[in-house]
Amino acid sequence: MIIILKKDAQAESVRRLEDILKSKGISTNHIQGANQNIIGLVGDTSIIDMDNLYAQDCVEDIRRVQEPYKKANRKFHPDDTVIPVRDTVIGNGSLQIIAGPCSVESEEQIITTAIACKNAGATMLRGGAFKPRTSPYSFQGMGADGIKLLIKAREETGLPIVTEIMNSADLDLFADVDVIQVGARNMQNFELLKALGKSSKPILLKRGLSSTLEELLMSAEYIMAEGNMNVILCERGIRTFETMTRNTFDLSMIPLMKEKSHLPICADPSHATGIYSLIEPMSLAAVISGADALEIEVHNDPKSALSDGGQQLTPQRFADMMVKIKDLAKYLGRTLGK
Ligand code: PEP
Ligand code: MN
Repeated sequence: MIIILKKDAQAESVRRLEDILKSKGISTNHIQGANQNIIGLVGDTSIIDMDNLYAQDCVEDIRRVQEPYKKANRKFHPDDTVIPVRDTVIGNGSLQIIAGPCSVESEEQIITTAIACKNAGATMLRGGAFKPRTSPYSFQGMGADGIKLLIKAREETGLPIVTEIMNSADLDLFADVDVIQVGARNMQNFELLKALGKSSKPILLKRGLSSTLEELLMSAEYIMAEGNMNVILCERGIRTFETMTRNTFDLSMIPLMKEKSHLPICADPSHATGIYSLIEPMSLAAVISGADALEIEVHNDPKSALSDGGQQLTPQRFADMMVKIKDLAKYLGRTLGK
């Protein structure tokens, strides 16, 4: 981090600034320029509150040289993070396909869909039990009963289960869930992130609707700072001026996230586009871009779905897509699942 001092900076104010920095274990290097004086900071600047420094009289500007995220940063952890999920792993170069309905709606619906997904080659099962809906009048999910049905579907298929948490008070209900999802709307629910940081479960952290990559990585940092290193980042589209798709799939974020972070990357073309016919091409593009996992919504009967009907694939469409995904994975030398 570099601090640019005001031209008329008073010695007393600069001394006060240095005291603040010293108290945080930061040492300083002064650079006397022809027109401007600069202080270079050496140490862990991630703990520095920039707003507090701007409040000092002598400070004109502050520039970060290093990213504020440390634990999620590939610079400090060059090797890919590999996360165990039951008897499989995510992040080791294999391709995981997380498929299943938007919401768990009934025993018949989740079991039928889970079997179809498994037969087509899915490696994990998704299904929302607690649903973050834009309208309070929309279906809110089956809650704890939904999780019980997912566990039943796992017994039936052997697929590990992925489901969303909305409130840390519900954490006990997730004790037998394999991957806990944090939805886009909760990406910056910092108390929830801290609570999940104290768990050792893998966390699928979705990018917020209008969050930058740095904000996503800072949210991952919240979980990791509490001790849980098992974080999977998920690109699920962002809100832009475009209205023809539900969101705009930010495909270039996938290889960029790989450069910036060692954490595994998941892509969710279902919520990114909202249109079932776009799921296959965007899934193929995400795999080519380096995604470690895809999260795809599949419903045994999308026309009767209680949420996100328009973006869910029928089992047949999913199976057709999986033929191409398997071919592509083979071409790229990647195995499906482990
Ligand atoms: C979901 O995966 O069910 C979901 C609600 O997604 P998002 O949080 O990305 O909108
Ligand atoms: Mn959905």
